[in-house]
Amino acid sequence: MQDKGKEMNNLVQIEPINKTYTEPEMPQLSDWEIHRKKTYIAFRKVVGFLYTKHSYGATRRYLLSILLPDKILYRWKPYQRGGCNRCGLCCKIVFKCPFYFESDTTTACMIYTSKRHAPPPCVVFPIDPFDLAEVQREVSPAPCPFYFEGQPEHPTTWGAIKAEIRSEFGKRVDKLKESFNSL
Ligand code: SF4
Ligand code: SF4
Repeated sequence: MQDKGKEMNNLVQIEPINKTYTEPEMPQLSDWEIHRKKTYIAFRKVVGFLYTKHSYGATRRYLLSILLPDKILYRWKPYQRGGCNRCGLCCKIVFKCPFYFESDTTTACMIYTSKRHAPPPCVVFPIDPFDLAEVQREVSPAPCPFYFEGQPEHPTTWGAIKAEIRSEFGKRVDKLKESFNSL
């Protein structure tokens, strides 16, 4: 299980399609400003439950990104293809994210690469085909060029959780058997 208070340097970050991309100069935010903006985002997402489907998809992404162990959370990554073209549209669904930065030449996120403040749901996107379809629907007709080729042994989150529980349980039973056999 991921440690919720951990620094975010274990997250698998989205690589831009253009590998020569360099981060633009962005405003430096204090911890307090970052927390204030994150609170605003949480407020908008909660209010969004009343009028947009996107809040449900975004909340699913948030909960999975902070609750699932890496083994389950990242099971679709080996099958992920395509990449991010930095259109920035997913940062402007329903409302413009206060961390979104746009210059004449590029778009960026003010906290995406931060070790302490990187936003887990944005960094782990796309978690699975359901997650990707949710964003692709919202940014359509513009494309979000990610796609999946093939699938993991347990495609659904619930299936992967059940398989993990079975496997852990099996290991414990084996250990118990070993201890009894050595008596
Ligand atoms: S919509 Fe897709 S391509 Fe556009 S910024 Fe978001 S992840 Fe990147
Ligand atoms: S990637 Fe950054 S700018 Fe985009 S939605 Fe996430 S936190 Fe906001």
